[in-house]
Amino acid sequence: MPKNADEMLEHAAEHPEALAAPGLSPRPQRKVAVLSCMDTRIDLFPMLGIERGDAHIIRNAGGLATDDALRSLSASQRLLGTEEIVVVMHRGCGLHGGSEDDFRRALANDGILPTWRLGAFDNLEDTLRQSLARLRSARELPHRDHIRGFVFDPEDGSLREVDGTD
Ligand SMILES: [Zn+2]
Repeated sequence: MPKNADEMLEHAAEHPEALAAPGLSPRPQRKVAVLSCMDTRIDLFPMLGIERGDAHIIRNAGGLATDDALRSLSASQRLLGTEEIVVVMHRGCGLHGGSEDDFRRALANDGILPTWRLGAFDNLEDTLRQSLARLRSARELPHRDHIRGFVFDPEDGSLREVDGTD
């Protein structure tokens, strides 16, 4: 039987003083939102030099600019004052080279026709550029002048920018 949830509760109960953030504003101090893949190898805080309270972190499979990512980014900018977006994708992503059709077929076999797409892709850089283009044209976001895209390589730890213009 899975026991992570119980262990997590116990772990948190051991040091509430380290978890509490009395007086820390919910408004990101560095006015930035990070949209990243959920990959376990991406540790955004040391990678980007951010601390708790600095940034909104929005993670999903791929780090894609999905409708729900836009919902969160819109809330981040319009309600909580962020003005800058950093998108992090990475080498070795589980969606890279995946099959949208196979995934849909597997779901269909279970009687499910989702409204969303998996987001499988063949070209990492092009996919990131498409996300950047979507964000830069999203009127839900009042601040679209500072949207940048990075690719992380978990094998060598490098982080490099992908130009948003084709
Ligand atoms: Zn990934």
